[in-house]
Amino acid sequence: MINKEQTHTLVRRALRLGATDAGAISPADIAVDNKLADLCNADPGCEHYGLAPGCPPHVSGPAGFRQWIKKSAAAIVVRIDVPTAALFSDQRREIMQLLHETVAGVESKAVEIGFVGSQAFAGGSCKQIFCHDQPDCPVLSGQGKCRHPQSARPSMSGFGIDVARLMQSAGWSVEKAAPENAADAQSMSWVAGLVLAVP
Ligand code: SF4
Repeated sequence: MINKEQTHTLVRRALRLGATDAGAISPADIAVDNKLADLCNADPGCEHYGLAPGCPPHVSGPAGFRQWIKKSAAAIVVRIDVPTAALFSDQRREIMQLLHETVAGVESKAVEIGFVGSQAFAGGSCKQIFCHDQPDCPVLSGQGKCRHPQSARPSMSGFGIDVARLMQSAGWSVEKAAPENAADAQSMSWVAGLVLAVP
C-alpha cells in the first residue's frame, strides 16, 4: 500500500527534477502489449536493438513487466513537454537524458521512503543517450559496471508498455507532433517515463 502523502512526495520529486507534469495511476491500468515489444526487433526495427542492457533482448520484456505490475503499490507517470523542433534536433539526446535523470530521481525517492524494489523506466537506448561516444557498453561486454548508474534506466519499449494508454490513464493528451512539424516554432511534443513503486 502507498498513502496519499507518499504519492505526493513522488509526484513533487518528479516536478522538481524537470517534469512538466506527473501523476499516480493504478499499476493495473498499465497496458502491456507483446506486439509493441516485438517492434524493437521488427523489420526495419530499432538501430540500437541489443546495444544496451536496458533494451531487448537483455530485458525481461512484457512477461517480466507483468510480474512487476503485480508487485507494485503505485505507478508514477512522468511527462516532459518539449518543443518539437528540439526533439528532432541535436538537443534530443539532452532531452532524453533529462527524462532518464528525472525518473531515476523519482525511483531513488521511492526507495528512500520505503519502496525498496522500485524501478524506473524511460525511453530510448541508454547506449545512444549516455554512451554514444563509447565503443560499447561495459555491462554487456563484461568489462565493468554502468558508467551512469544514477541516471540510465531501461526503455519502456522493450517491455511492451503502451505509452499512449499510459498518457490517457494519467489524464493527458496523446497527441504527439510528427517530425514534419519541427519547422513550426509553436509546435510542442512530449517524452514520457514511468516509475513503479515496489515495496
Ligand atoms: S554503460 Fe550504462 S549508460 Fe552506458 S550503455 Fe551501458 S548501461 Fe547504458
